[in-house]
Amino acid sequence: MVTVQSDSNPNKFYYVTISSCTCPDFVYRQAKIGGKCKHMLKLFGVMKPKRLSNEVIEFFKDGVSCHEAFEKYGVKLDILLEHNLIVKVGVDKYYLL
Ligand SMILES: [Zn+2]
Repeated sequence: MVTVQSDSNPNKFYYVTISSCTCPDFVYRQAKIGGKCKHMLKLFGVMKPKRLSNEVIEFFKDGVSCHEAFEKYGVKLDILLEHNLIVKVGVDKYYLL
């Protein structure tokens, strides 16, 4: 579990794990729709495309098959897809946007 300070209130702290957060966005919104709040995304470091590592960018450069992508990045791929950082083309290729 990681403790994160609130952006809007420096006296407030949230407790973040891979699958939950105590912030209002997660508790009242994301939890109900299976989403993730910004604190959870920060833990994965893929909030914005510019924060993707060079390794990830290089890997997706020419598109990768679903199999390759899941093999290498597993859960990270779900997050990339969820935030429209990558697109799935046809039945079996992923491309970085
Ligand atoms: Zn949160």
